[in-house]
Amino acid sequence: MPDFYPWLEPVRDRVVAVLKQGRLPHALLLTGQPGMGKSAFSEYLAQLLLCQQPTRMHTPCGECSGCIQFASGSHPDYFHVSHAVDEKTGKKSKEIKVDQIRTLASNLVLSSHHGGYQVAVLDPADAMNKNAANSLLKTLEEPSDNTVLLLVSACPARLPATVRSRCQQLKIEAPERQLALQWLQGQGCGDLAQTCLQLAHGAPLEALRLAQTGSVEGRQEHFNALVGILEKRVSPLTVAQGWSKDEEMQGIRWMREWLMDLIRIRMTGEAGQARSADLQDGLSTLANRLDCRVVFELLERINRILRLTAGSLNRQLLTEDILLAWAAQR
Ligand SMILES: [Zn+2]
Repeated sequence: MPDFYPWLEPVRDRVVAVLKQGRLPHALLLTGQPGMGKSAFSEYLAQLLLCQQPTRMHTPCGECSGCIQFASGSHPDYFHVSHAVDEKTGKKSKEIKVDQIRTLASNLVLSSHHGGYQVAVLDPADAMNKNAANSLLKTLEEPSDNTVLLLVSACPARLPATVRSRCQQLKIEAPERQLALQWLQGQGCGDLAQTCLQLAHGAPLEALRLAQTGSVEGRQEHFNALVGILEKRVSPLTVAQGWSKDEEMQGIRWMREWLMDLIRIRMTGEAGQARSADLQDGLSTLANRLDCRVVFELLERINRILRLTAGSLNRQLLTEDILLAWAAQR
């Protein structure tokens, strides 16, 4: 059975309620910030719709031929559409392409194999390029009976309004903190649970990812490097060399977060205003000694840099530029 997370219960109950009344819309748009379990929920819902004997609790039985075919990835009435994959190179495209939507549409006009629902998940739906979205509109406008489209998107604003308006939106909200912490503890996050949940803005799966990838320790190291530069213990050029190896420029991205935190602390005089709870003490010390004007200037530079897609040489020069400016303040 696909993963089902405890904080998804309220949203599942809402869907089950409309399902029982026979009012399930032809198209649902599942939204919510990354790390909330939208994909898992779309698959859960798909299996529930394809299950031939759902339990009284409205969960898939896991035993019928519908459930077994679903679990083995061979259910003839289930379609999953995601980023296109190039057949020759095996590389994932950033887009869902029009051919994929046309294939889906031609499958959906056929009647269902098992006589029940036909379910299609588009995940992430906002990866559809313009032609793909236009092509999907036809299916959304004239849905065949018993067809359910589940569009998954963390950024629904990227979908054309014409597509959005034909779907019923279902937002997955961040769970109560206590529930999320309990779940994270159960996953073995230990002492990191609180910090990771805060850094993930309350999204449990994102928090788990942060805990499992050692991101929190990495942040501490990056932060120490910035303090080291100010205290003239470390050369900004050495730090820049290390940071620029990362294509995502994570060091610079974290630095942007911390600069924003420094401004928050300076404006309010409260260390508790820092979003980076893990570094609150260090940020508070820094906030007292920094010149706000310099911090604003640095933020502008960083925002400019992050808009560029930089090659590795460029990345090192840009990172040096930022860290030299950081080192130059008194
Ligand atoms: Zn079943």
